[in-house]
Amino acid sequence: MRVGILSLQGDVDLHEKAIKRFHKDVEVMRVKSKEELEKAEMLILPGGESPTMSKLIKRYELKDALLKKIKEDKVPTLATCAGIVLLSKMEEPDGRVEPLEALDVVIMRNGFGRQRESFEDKVTVKFDDKEAIITGVFIRAPRIKKIGDKARPIAFLKDEVTGVLEENILALSFHPELADDTDIIYEKLFSMVG
Ligand code: GLN
Repeated sequence: MRVGILSLQGDVDLHEKAIKRFHKDVEVMRVKSKEELEKAEMLILPGGESPTMSKLIKRYELKDALLKKIKEDKVPTLATCAGIVLLSKMEEPDGRVEPLEALDVVIMRNGFGRQRESFEDKVTVKFDDKEAIITGVFIRAPRIKKIGDKARPIAFLKDEVTGVLEENILALSFHPELADDTDIIYEKLFSMVG
């Protein structure tokens, strides 16, 4: 299984560690070009700075290739924090991020505000057959403002949705790679491998 981690910027190393901890036999590829992207059988869009990532997606002409990989080839995709920003629609477009709009979600960047810029709290994750309480690490996290019909809420911080599943896309506003009790996320991701 070749897991491609979009490696333009952001916390690539920790995603690599987390996925290898969960599954010893994966081959991790750092994706920076269309050619590398083409080889990936699973995709991770890490956290980081979405404006920087967006700029680099443009520079390396990766937008169409990413959309094809995610929406047409439907590879299992995990998007975290800045990654969910890149895939959603923006509540207040600011010209710094050109989102792919691959996800039926409206998002607000840095939506948890100044006082709570970064925090850790318990998050309940629910799939059809499973439920777990895990550690949610939120770092200047985006806030999910609207969820369209195509996306299904799967992660909750109290009553607030902090993660969705839409077909092959698992998108979270927090960082599962920064906690060690997040296996339920990786189980779901690998269960989507066709
Ligand atoms: N606030 C960042 C952004 O919108 C996301 C932060 C993160 O990925 N930890 O790009």
